[in-house]
Amino acid sequence: MARYTDAKCKLCRREGMKLFLKGQRCFSDKCAITRRNYPPGQHAQRRSKATDYGLRLREKQKLKRIYGLLDRQFRLYFQEAERLPGNTGENLVSLLERRLDSVVIASGFALSRPHARHLIAHGHFRVNGKRVDIASYQVRAGDKITLRDSDKTRKVVGEAIEFSRSQVLPDWLSVDRAASVVTVAALPRMEHFLHPIQLQMIIEISSR
Ligand code: SF4
Repeated sequence: MARYTDAKCKLCRREGMKLFLKGQRCFSDKCAITRRNYPPGQHAQRRSKATDYGLRLREKQKLKRIYGLLDRQFRLYFQEAERLPGNTGENLVSLLERRLDSVVIASGFALSRPHARHLIAHGHFRVNGKRVDIASYQVRAGDKITLRDSDKTRKVVGEAIEFSRSQVLPDWLSVDRAASVVTVAALPRMEHFLHPIQLQMIIEISSR
């Protein structure tokens, strides 16, 4: 699956907010947003006032970048969110948060989305006992996510577990850090979407 591989901090600077794409660095004073909180590019600071369309587009870009999605992938999620019964925004949040990489981050087993994807692609996680190496895998209520039983896995995940010890865990996941088991207790809802993004704007621009 195609993915964005260019400099990550540029994305945060373009959006004017932390997207947390680089693990521990994002929480340190080395974070580019802390040092240079203006858009990248020679003339970027001279940009004129954004239009209504521009503002909506930026909200969509923020969401795509947080979840590491390219245009086509986002479109598929949005179409699915529209197709499902209920509120499109809540459906979209649920689909994105139920991705295996989102679950791995929310449970504190990875420092960032690129880190989570790397761990998943290298087969460090099991869902209901079966190896899953697809970051976009959708978890369901009742699923059990476990770590591969190996010293290497414990080593590569250990640092993230240590770092995220003080992290508040979402209540739709039941996380046993000692046993390295995550149970999907319920499906995520709107209140579990904590990013400062205006979903309504994204719906307006994407429904066109
Ligand atoms: Fe964004 Fe993290 Fe880079 Fe800061 S360090 S600009 S939060 S990716």
